[in-house]
Amino acid sequence: MNGAERIEFRDVARGRALQARLQRAVEHAGRPITLMHVCGSHEQAIARYGLRARFPRELRVHMGPGCPVCVTDAPEIDACVGLARRGVRIVTYGDMLHVPGSSSSLEQARAAGARVDVVYSATQAADIARACAEPVVFFATGFETTAVATAAILLASPPPNLFVLSAHKWVPAAMDVVAGAPDSKIEGYLAAGHAATITGHGVFEAFVEKRRRPVVVAGFEPLDILSGLLVLVEHVVAAKATVVKAFPRCVTREGNTRALVALFRVFERCDGDWRGIARVPGGNLRLRPEFAPNDAGLRFGDELSATAGLAEPEAASACRCGAIMTGQAEPVDCPLFGKACRPDAPVGACMVSTEGPCRIGYEHGARADGQLP
Ligand code: SF4
Repeated sequence: MNGAERIEFRDVARGRALQARLQRAVEHAGRPITLMHVCGSHEQAIARYGLRARFPRELRVHMGPGCPVCVTDAPEIDACVGLARRGVRIVTYGDMLHVPGSSSSLEQARAAGARVDVVYSATQAADIARACAEPVVFFATGFETTAVATAAILLASPPPNLFVLSAHKWVPAAMDVVAGAPDSKIEGYLAAGHAATITGHGVFEAFVEKRRRPVVVAGFEPLDILSGLLVLVEHVVAAKATVVKAFPRCVTREGNTRALVALFRVFERCDGDWRGIARVPGGNLRLRPEFAPNDAGLRFGDELSATAGLAEPEAASACRCGAIMTGQAEPVDCPLFGKACRPDAPVGACMVSTEGPCRIGYEHGARADGQLP
């Protein structure tokens, strides 16, 4: 791309023009419109650039189940904590240390002497296993994009002492559950452009057909988000239930077919619990039987079954993460927000990650009067 063709994704004049068109589109509807984006990176960008303050008053944009840390279920944390307490070496991504389980986080287990190390990639987890003889459990979390990286190490002669405890999840399945809720007011969905580079935008066609709601795939620059929302509002107003690619520089209908082949050679979809939301049919990714030698669920089956059924702590019962991620509430609706629950002392998972709606709201100035950043 030469200088003359350079596209400026934060151009103020273009942003204002899109804002004005968005205003007119919502006014043309003549009624409130409620949308949902399904990605923590979208929420980060909306907050960082102050976009929500520029949205039309009649436009509500909720964050859905788009933060992998937020939706990792307490029993999944419990399973990992249970292994760590039994002396099994755990490696996982940094945010996972702080996510509360039923009785402890991995960070608390580590403080009590458990061996829990942070890794920055699946490759690093494999390298740690190669450098020792003891079993190493990789607590593998994240959505389909991150699952591809886990698949890659399992397809590349993984060390026999590496065991994957998969908490990977498949986002389109959760969108279907949210859209199917009887009281859902969501009229359209903004999907994550980076995930769609892997899955392709075609992955949303079945959802649109079933739920009769438009999906617009958008990038993460301010102009990407504004233009994506504009297209989404236009489709809602016109009652056009289609998939729209508003991120053409990266996304194709088919996606990254090599990555998808690798993903589904290693994983298969299964039903799974998403924290605070529901049982999501086809929402989790588990290892296929041919990868049993590296499956922590099989290697440590007895130990993991001993962690099942732990009670929910009292403080977490007030947590409204589930209602927030299904578009029923905002972080400021939670009585613990900014008081008992803060980034340095998270009660719920949505306050842990920089992609969590409560953490983003806290750090970017969500106010007690209900105004989000
Ligand atoms: Fe849960 Fe904390 Fe968010 Fe409340 S503020 S919903 S306790 S994460």
